[in-house]
Amino acid sequence: MTRWSNWSGSVTAEASVLRPRDEDELAGAVAAASRVRATGAGHSFMPLCASNDFIVNLEDMAGSLGVAADRRSVRAPAGWSLKRLTAALWDEGLALANQGDVNPQSLAGSTATGTHGTGRELGSLSTFVRGMRLIGSDGDACWCSADENPDLFQAARLSLGMFGIATEIEIAVVPAFHLAERIEKRRWAEVREQFDDLVEQQRHIEFWFFPHADSVILKTLEPCDPCDLPPSTTDMEETAFRRVLNIGAVVPALVPFLQRLMMRARLSGRRRGPAHAIFPSDRTLRFEEMEYEMPRAVGLDTLDEVVRWIRAKRLPVSFPFEYRVVAADDIWMSPMHAGPVASISMHQYAKMPWQKLFADSEAIFRAHGGRPHWAKRHTLTRDDVDALYPMAERYRAVRREADPAGKFLNPHLAALFS
Ligand SMILES: Cc1cc2nc3c(=O)[nH]c(=O)nc-3n(C[C@H](O)[C@H](O)[C@H](O)COP(=O)(O)OP(=O)(O)OC[C@H]3O[C@@H](n4cnc5c(N)ncnc54)[C@H](O)[C@@H]3O)c2cc1C
Repeated sequence: MTRWSNWSGSVTAEASVLRPRDEDELAGAVAAASRVRATGAGHSFMPLCASNDFIVNLEDMAGSLGVAADRRSVRAPAGWSLKRLTAALWDEGLALANQGDVNPQSLAGSTATGTHGTGRELGSLSTFVRGMRLIGSDGDACWCSADENPDLFQAARLSLGMFGIATEIEIAVVPAFHLAERIEKRRWAEVREQFDDLVEQQRHIEFWFFPHADSVILKTLEPCDPCDLPPSTTDMEETAFRRVLNIGAVVPALVPFLQRLMMRARLSGRRRGPAHAIFPSDRTLRFEEMEYEMPRAVGLDTLDEVVRWIRAKRLPVSFPFEYRVVAADDIWMSPMHAGPVASISMHQYAKMPWQKLFADSEAIFRAHGGRPHWAKRHTLTRDDVDALYPMAERYRAVRREADPAGKFLNPHLAALFS
């Protein structure tokens, strides 16, 4: 048995871990197992991968990139990290149209949870998926796409790992492009007033907001002329922040003061480079995260309310909120299924308590019609899932057909989807 842990350290398991070299080895192991969970980079905060039986990780599996004749999609090994995938795409003159904050996640893991970046017209990575090869609970392989096994495809576009082990994923790509990143400190009141206009003007926009400070860090990415690799691999230097976090963890009452102090610093930056080198940044400080996708129109009001509540109670929320925008989609279990969203991520330093803080804030997000990111902390029950997702029962029916014995479930997923 091996001890498995997620990235933040909040989910652990004792399980047999298999890293198959090829699909036959994987298929044989899945057929013989009574329970199995797939894991990618373990970047999910919820216990999606947890299993005290058997965990498979496809990082070492053989495979290569296949570019479609029209160069609009590629087939890639599902266990590849986004870092490996986007580097291979770049060598072919191709790129993903959008990416999130970091790139160690696997292609399978990031698409299985609706991982997204920011951009008013850009959907999550799950919306880029065109098809996938799945090893089913009996060990047999099948392909699903909009034309082949369409119900299975609809469900598996945001699968949470319950519909089989994905070994290959076909994903939409665009011609390679370059990005210019711009970071600046702006007054919160000013950004709040202008944000809707800025969203219309920028291809990618987001801001970071320390709840006890009056300024935010605004970040935009715009396509630019070809240029070399950027000098830095990250959008933000974390050394000073680490010091502040560690002081705040020992004396939580100092958090509001420390945040205001930190936001007095000159915070601005410019980077340019290939898109796949600019989208992701280094995140070396461990945190726990909850993220709610809000109907776009109520996003800023909701953030305002949560921040006012944190300030009133002087709560030691030591990490900033991250505010992004994501386009609507048609994926059954996607939080973006109901329309375009404003995505509000709430973080807490991993060394500080987060449970009550998240639970109390979640009530505000829920009251304004939010739906959680499936990979990040939430306390949804089965009834909540039914209330939020009109297609939930169909999703469960497809799951039952694909995996009648519940081989791909764990207790967390069984409570919501069995
Ligand atoms: C530092 C950090 C930054 C992040 N930034 C963002 C961001 O910018 N935007 C965002 O939306 N999210 C973000 N996330 C969340 C993250 O993208 C998701 O948790 C994502 O699912 C992680 O991918 P992973 O490879 O680690 O998957 P894991 O967490 O290992 O697994 C996620 C799910 O995928 C399933 N799965 C994995 N491999 C397979 C497979 N081969 N077949 C079938 N199912 C499989 C698992 O069973 C599980 O249900 C971030 C997380 C961290 C820790």
